Amino acid sequence: MKSKSHKYIFVIGGVMSGVGKGIATSSIGAILQSKGFVVNLLKADPYLNVDAGTMNPVEHGEVFVLDSGLETDQDMGNYERFLNRSLSGDDYITSGMVYKHVIDAERALKYGGKCVEAIPHIRDEIVHRFEKSAKANKSDITVVEIGGTVGDYQNIMFMEAARVMKVMHPHDVAFVMVSYMPVPSKLGEMKSKPTQNAIRQLFSYGINTDIVIARSEVPMDYKRREKIAIACSLPVEQIISAPDSESVFDVPINFEKDNMSHILMKLLHLRKKKNETGIKEWVDFANKVKNTKETVNIAIVGKYFNTGDFVLTDAYVSVLEAIKYSSYKLGKKAVIHTVNSRDYEGENVKKEKFMAIEKFDGIVVPGGFGESGIEGKLAVIQYARENKIPYFGLCYGMQLMIIEYARNVLGLKDATTTEINPESKNLIIDIMSDQKKKLEDCNYGGSMRLGAYPANIEKDTIAHGAYGKDLIQERHRHRYEVNPEYIKQLTNAGLVFSGKSPNGILMEIAELPKKVHPFFLGTQFHPEFLARPLAPHPLFTEFIKAAINKNRK
Ligand code: GLN
Repeated sequence: MKSKSHKYIFVIGGVMSGVGKGIATSSIGAILQSKGFVVNLLKADPYLNVDAGTMNPVEHGEVFVLDSGLETDQDMGNYERFLNRSLSGDDYITSGMVYKHVIDAERALKYGGKCVEAIPHIRDEIVHRFEKSAKANKSDITVVEIGGTVGDYQNIMFMEAARVMKVMHPHDVAFVMVSYMPVPSKLGEMKSKPTQNAIRQLFSYGINTDIVIARSEVPMDYKRREKIAIACSLPVEQIISAPDSESVFDVPINFEKDNMSHILMKLLHLRKKKNETGIKEWVDFANKVKNTKETVNIAIVGKYFNTGDFVLTDAYVSVLEAIKYSSYKLGKKAVIHTVNSRDYEGENVKKEKFMAIEKFDGIVVPGGFGESGIEGKLAVIQYARENKIPYFGLCYGMQLMIIEYARNVLGLKDATTTEINPESKNLIIDIMSDQKKKLEDCNYGGSMRLGAYPANIEKDTIAHGAYGKDLIQERHRHRYEVNPEYIKQLTNAGLVFSGKSPNGILMEIAELPKKVHPFFLGTQFHPEFLARPLAPHPLFTEFIKAAINKNRK
């Protein structure tokens, strides 16, 4: 019997980056899934970095960690959020990963003395990885987003792999180009020429796109659709207008208005499935996003916001999303305030500045690394604890919350983490034993405690109330841990460790009892990576509940 053929959709950018290729890919995944297909989404990143773990979040945005522990691009977060499921470690590829594999294989004589070249060896390794991800997910359709835009040198091998797959499986491969249609303010007219040129450039690689998603500020008229259709020899229905929308959650709905899933199914020779669910859940969620008016004010105290004259929140995108989903669930729109922790450092920070924190209903200190901005975060945490402002610490945010407790409640004034000052006497947060050697060897890439690990949850705690179960599984990314030598002291002083690794050694959640503080809780893991629009994260929901109640006192 002929084995069922996998289908592949390649999403390629035209004209320029930053026009929503990732959201388009995620949305294509969501609508095909709603038609009953098993879909996986794959990002092919052109970087020579072997993974995204070593990239600076200010420049590159958040590092998103998968269950497998792979450190990936923030697009992977969108993919999981739109599909409402976790993806596999085979769903993220970088050029670095591919080249490293091929070069390592060459050093191990795996090519039997052949001359090893980009074509065929790199290209074929990419094809192999596309196929492997389809298999790992047992999916009907794999949607591959090729990073960068057409014309880049860096992504040319991915394009070549995609072309070859079309040659090998003409009925199983489709191409989608996400392109930009500018409306220059002086002209007031939408221009299609850059997109036409991008299509032609792609054609010069041997790839003819099947669908063009035209991104622009306003909807595209029929005349321009026709122009593009003629330029790339396509039926006009296959040119999709994708104007800016109020929220990204409208994008799958808008695509369906233009029959995107139907067109793709036709192109890929796919028959209608019996188990199609439709996009009702999406429509309901998108309506909630639009119609929720009452607000809850949440501050994120971080250090990766400022680049030049701009404030970017990309480094914390999953945290922002997690806050929003739980707020919507509770009927509120989250207004998120970015607070630069460095503004709270030094002797001269005025009392009024701290009092301004009062206006926030809840405070989050997200993950982070290194020394800068730490004293500011500690000062804000102390204020939140003493003034009973709901506080949620994520990873570094939990470690700092415990350091603050040790300093100001236990009276250990030099309490700190080995990450900041290894000479200090009271290292409340210390390097994990298996991490020491890695740092000595300068083995920084992909070497932290990464990915999904289980934790036991203590009964009668805030955490247990939120999760409603004894055993959880959450994603991690850290090198340091709560120093076991201080656990007794901290516990005696009122701090509750409500989540622990199954062997009882690693502290996974710390909290203060509800009767002491409405919500003062931190997690060593990153709950934000598992928050989804259609399945908000229980700890974020519990935090937002406390934030909403702050005003009802
Ligand atoms: N820097 C801390 C550690 O490595 C926290 C990491 C994080 O917040 N992701 O343990």
